[in-house]
Amino acid sequence: MKFSQIPGQKDIIDRLIGSVRCERVSHAQLFSGPEGCGSLALALAYATYISCENRSGNDSCGICKSCVKYEKMIHPDLHFVFPVIKNKREDPVSDSFIGEWRDFVRKSPFFTLNSWLDSIGVEKEQGLIFASEAAEIIKKLSLKTFESDVKIMIIWLPERMHLSTANKLLKIIEEPPDRTLFLLVSEEPDKVIPTILSRCQHIKIPGFTGDKIKDYLISKYGSSSEKAAEIARIANGNIIRASDLFENQESSLQNLDSFRSLMRYSWKRDILSVIRWSEEMASRGREAQKGFISYALRLLRENLMLSLDQQKHRLVYLGGEEVTFSEKFHPYINQRNVYPLTEELNQAFYHIEANGNARIIFLDLALKVVRLIR
Ligand SMILES: [Zn+2]
Repeated sequence: MKFSQIPGQKDIIDRLIGSVRCERVSHAQLFSGPEGCGSLALALAYATYISCENRSGNDSCGICKSCVKYEKMIHPDLHFVFPVIKNKREDPVSDSFIGEWRDFVRKSPFFTLNSWLDSIGVEKEQGLIFASEAAEIIKKLSLKTFESDVKIMIIWLPERMHLSTANKLLKIIEEPPDRTLFLLVSEEPDKVIPTILSRCQHIKIPGFTGDKIKDYLISKYGSSSEKAAEIARIANGNIIRASDLFENQESSLQNLDSFRSLMRYSWKRDILSVIRWSEEMASRGREAQKGFISYALRLLRENLMLSLDQQKHRLVYLGGEEVTFSEKFHPYINQRNVYPLTEELNQAFYHIEANGNARIIFLDLALKVVRLIR
């Protein structure tokens, strides 16, 4: 991964390059930032840069032996720790999934924990860095370097680490083996144990700017400038969300349509149409049903913001037809009904995930909406 492959974050990149140039690379660093800010990509590019045999003032060379191995993520001095799921083995470690991990990260370095876990197992499984990982970490770091001057261990989501692993890691961060660099990449640093936090240099990474996300959508998907700008605004700095929104525009329109129908029938107390609506929802696939509910939750939240915000639109992330709809709809959402509505949607989501009867779930949901919307 080269720095130039990251669409933005120039200030952070300059700072990282500067640390190498001044030979002030702290041996334990924590990259923290919200989902979709590119923190893992930055850590990878930084590691590649540090290890590059022929780096320039602004990027790694991309062609030396080290860069080639870093690109494939098979460099013997590059180690990864990341959340995994329990498989048939009693105590899984990251290396049990290293092949899948390499393939996944190389496809795109911008992804969520859920999408990673989905790719290695069933949904709903908890992803953790298990206690068994501690021995692996110590073993790997006790080795001499093979090809580089420095061993680099990238730990993705240390907040997912078993306490005993964290404690063992603490000792090794305190007295690091020779020429070892830890790069911890966290989305929720407040959940990392404080004794680890206090031993790391912190690099706070902001979300991507709207302009950078817009450029990214145009170059990746050939999006129109208007559409890219609109999605960039809704994505609010999260590049993963921006891609999702772009790739799912059609389902997004369908979801808006379903949401609008439900609200209209409910307001009119048109029970026959409400029943037909719930039958139609029940006929969709499970993922589409969950997608609708997530969408409805977002729309509710944004409409509440519209109702509350005196200087309208400042905090609202809506696009296209959603704006037109919400202009009229938001007065119906208030602090009184937004909690029970949210609760009902969450319940429905939960029941769908648990494989409940979709016809009953959606009819029940729709009838609750009839009662709550007036
Ligand atoms: Zn190189």
